Amino acid sequence: MPASAPMPVLFLGHGSPMNALADNAYTHRLRALGQRLPKPRGILCISAHWVTDGTFVTRMAKPKTIHDFSGFPPELFAVQYPAPGSPEIADLICATASDAAIQADEKTWGLDHGTWSVLRHMYPDADVPVLQLSIDGTRPDQDHFKIGQALKPLRDQGILIVGSGNIVHNLRLIDWNAAAPAFPWAIEFDAWVAARLANKDFKPLYHKVLHSDAARLSIPTPEHYRPLLYTLGAVDAEDTFSVEYEGIEHASISMRCIRYGRA
Ligand code: ZN
Repeated sequence: MPASAPMPVLFLGHGSPMNALADNAYTHRLRALGQRLPKPRGILCISAHWVTDGTFVTRMAKPKTIHDFSGFPPELFAVQYPAPGSPEIADLICATASDAAIQADEKTWGLDHGTWSVLRHMYPDADVPVLQLSIDGTRPDQDHFKIGQALKPLRDQGILIVGSGNIVHNLRLIDWNAAAPAFPWAIEFDAWVAARLANKDFKPLYHKVLHSDAARLSIPTPEHYRPLLYTLGAVDAEDTFSVEYEGIEHASISMRCIRYGRA
């Protein structure tokens, strides 16, 4: 990849917070991906776990590690991901995506597990500045795609844009056995999305995506799906598509991870 090539864009399925501690085929793939990509100047992560009224970017120099879950073992609460933030990159993001009216968050958030559970595998040294962008819960799907479009020029500034959520995410029907067989509707919707990702046929993914029973069961609430729309908005015509990981865990959680970038 020439030095001038834009950074790729990723969408990563994160699943259970316990994946932060796992050592399995999924985490090995994340680690290999981190080693293969050009080293970013900074990472902008859109995590399913930060939903706000308005769009915010973290602007602290030292974002705290947030343990935004309960009922998990102490070793998960002990995880720290001490990556630096970057007020300078936060300002660059606000200026670049001026159409998105992004506001700076100086003290509320930090890095939640949607971010650190994947980045501690990709970048275990925590030596790349990491910022989070919140998801405005008041906006419809197509607006999240549009904000992704506004973020696209950041790829030319060395910023790695990472959506972190799950294409299929139904906690009400989850089976806590990670290896439980996938529900047929989960397989159906994951495959339907995968086909559109491969063809860069994005509009059905942000315009009336809840078109079938399988879709409605896969996206009972939108927060884990919407990080994908930021990733897709930042894709350009020259990008090629690759699947970095696929599989359904806990019967109702798609772990699909994808990348768009120069070959
Ligand atoms: Zn999650």
